[in-house]
Amino acid sequence: MTSVLHRSLKATYPRAASGHGIHIRDTQGRDYIDASGGAAVSCLGHMHPDVLSAMRKQLEQLEYAHTGFFTTEVAEQLGDDLVAHAPEGMSHVYFVSGGSEAIEAALKMARQYFVEIGQPQRARFIARKQSYHGNTLGALAVGGNEWRRAQFEPLLVKTHHVSPPYAYRDRRADESDAEYGERLAQELEAMIAELGPETIIGFIAETVGGATAGALTAPEGYYRRVREICDRHGILLILDEVMCGMGRTGTLHACEQEGVTPDLMTIAKGMGGGYAPIGGVLVHEKIIDAFASGSGLFQHGHTYLGHPVACAASLAVQQVIRRDNLLENVRKQGTYLTQRLEARFGNHPHVGDIRGRGLFQAIELVADRSSKETFDPARKVHAQIKQEAMARGLICYPMGGTIDGIHGDHVLLAPPFIVTEADIDAIVERLGDAVDAVVG
Ligand code: PMP
Repeated sequence: MTSVLHRSLKATYPRAASGHGIHIRDTQGRDYIDASGGAAVSCLGHMHPDVLSAMRKQLEQLEYAHTGFFTTEVAEQLGDDLVAHAPEGMSHVYFVSGGSEAIEAALKMARQYFVEIGQPQRARFIARKQSYHGNTLGALAVGGNEWRRAQFEPLLVKTHHVSPPYAYRDRRADESDAEYGERLAQELEAMIAELGPETIIGFIAETVGGATAGALTAPEGYYRRVREICDRHGILLILDEVMCGMGRTGTLHACEQEGVTPDLMTIAKGMGGGYAPIGGVLVHEKIIDAFASGSGLFQHGHTYLGHPVACAASLAVQQVIRRDNLLENVRKQGTYLTQRLEARFGNHPHVGDIRGRGLFQAIELVADRSSKETFDPARKVHAQIKQEAMARGLICYPMGGTIDGIHGDHVLLAPPFIVTEADIDAIVERLGDAVDAVVG
């Protein structure tokens, strides 16, 4: 019996009792390799001593001070640290408690920017199909994940969705990567023209798609074209790096690899590594300047923003990543992970695609490799793989999504940055067994 309203009323969940490195142990003594860091959260693995000691130290000094009255040393240090490593021009960070809150803040900040600069008629967002930006109403409204939205549709602010980069299903056989990227960018441009550029606040996108279809990278040049289109129409570019950011793809921010700087960037998950709930919005100075010369404040706020213990955790996470050169390990082990996935699933009759970047990779399951036909959604292949993987001591992140009526099953891997080759061997072996148990 449980008094806790869990994600499912039907499922039973093992009780997580302890953690160490990339492992979690339950109260029955079963050990799991946490190969998705939960949902791409635990970038340093569990119970990292340096993070714990930084949090303890903060707790012994001050547990909480409301940001309506005070700032704290630790929040200022974390802010400086994040801005020092942010893309050029991003001058401030706004702290929140997680990814959805970061999205809500970014959407409001974008809207307020246009009010401040005298363009209040801008009131619409363009986003992408097959995207996930969080479960609060604003985040759900911009998100393009059909089943998550369905029953809440009447409560959602109207958003306009364009196609996401999804080369496996969407790129034509006669099209180069660059041509595909150009086609996607032109779809955005056409949507802007249809709606009227002067009515649009911003375009929001996950730099690398995460929780809906798993590790969807964009074609080379796509984001530079998107940036150019947004600039030409005075539209803000909001990149959601809640899942793919903070080192996960091998650079601190995924947009560094795309050669673009957004106007607003949301971060969370790996920002605190799971040690405390924390997220943030990195803000371009042009927005700060508009606020400073206008109302002088951002009309928003939550009780727990800039929580000192969460800031201490996040600061320690950033320091450990740099001290231990972990982004290099993300790149190195990411390459190894791709090799192992190719070796295990490259000829698998039910794996149609292997994709991703750094330690953010996914496989897509198909009923038929040549036709790319998906499994019947009623079969819930992704959920079965999750169960079979857990039975084998593996946590991976399976998901099912629908885009333009096509259902897909995907499994995302996002292991901690401390992962070794031997860990990856074990992860791929267990995942292979779980996949075969369901569809082999
Ligand atoms: N944006 C993206 C890209 C995400 O992947 C998520 C969480 N999966 C969110 C926003 C929402 O974050 P949270 O669950 O912390 O509210």
